[in-house]
Amino acid sequence: MAELLIKRLCIVGVGLIGGSLARALREAGVVTEIIGTGRNIENLKKAVALGVIDSYEEDLARAVKGADVVVVAVPLGAMEAVFKTIAPHLDEHAILTDVGSAKGSVVKAAENAFGSLPVNLVPGHPIAGTEQSGVEASFAELYNERRIIITPTSVSDAQAIARVRAMWEACGAEVVEMNVEHHDEVLAATSHLPHMLAYTLVDTLARMDDSQEIFDYAAGGFRDFTRIASSDPQMWNDICLANHDALVVMLERFSADLKDLSNAVQRNDGDYLKEMFTRAKQARDAFCNK
Ligand code: NAP
Repeated sequence: MAELLIKRLCIVGVGLIGGSLARALREAGVVTEIIGTGRNIENLKKAVALGVIDSYEEDLARAVKGADVVVVAVPLGAMEAVFKTIAPHLDEHAILTDVGSAKGSVVKAAENAFGSLPVNLVPGHPIAGTEQSGVEASFAELYNERRIIITPTSVSDAQAIARVRAMWEACGAEVVEMNVEHHDEVLAATSHLPHMLAYTLVDTLARMDDSQEIFDYAAGGFRDFTRIASSDPQMWNDICLANHDALVVMLERFSADLKDLSNAVQRNDGDYLKEMFTRAKQARDAFCNK
């Protein structure tokens, strides 16, 4: 692990992801001072009271001043405005990273805000989270033994990449590198599509006339399958818009497969059903036993 000491860490957006990072870095003893910023003073006061950050600064520009590492942990739709505000105020050597769930949109937002990509920008995405939001839901172990994908740009400085890598490793995470487009395709399949399915299933059932009875009889499997439909709607709105192209490809592919399944059920095609269920079971068992 590369040596890491962050003197002044600025977390923009002290919620589940930003707050958990602050807690984990503090526990690892690799940060001297943590300053938080965001729109909501009550939230920031709560973050101080919980010991997640040392202090807060309402003004974004002042918050990033003097920080050697700045982590932007706001919803994807707010990234560009945040970058624009902080751009003139970042220290020359400050490392800038983010935690957004899609990466192409973050790179584009940075280009728009800075005029060109900063060499100290290393976009990142923790493959960890819960369906909860807010600083109260944050916890230090969130990243332990979880993967973090970093997507350095063509101009990302090697030392900046090493510092961001070391920051996540200090939280107990495994860091992997990917290019931006590949990240967005992989995440559209593994995370964004499943969230669409969970939201749609719950919404379809909730809008049925006898929805109350349906939910009364729903068992553990329904709860497992739909847990992620309790995720923050604003965050998922932003993710859909940000990862539009890759998500559309996956939604169309899944819709075609679902249509095939529907046709097989309609024609009582037991061979199709058994073959597909067997293939899926084998794939899931192999994934779970890995
Ligand atoms: P969260 O708990 O709601 O925290 C987001 C924080 O951003 C809040 O503390 C909020 O604080 C601040 N914020 C919201 N809008 C803002 C704006 N317009 N300008 C400045 N600050 C703003 O959400 P989260 O789950 O931590 O998600 C944060 C980021 O992590 C998102 O980009 C998401 O895609 C990514 N991510 C989430 C997960 C997950 O499972 N939740 C996993 C991986 C990555 P104020 O209200 O005080 O402004």
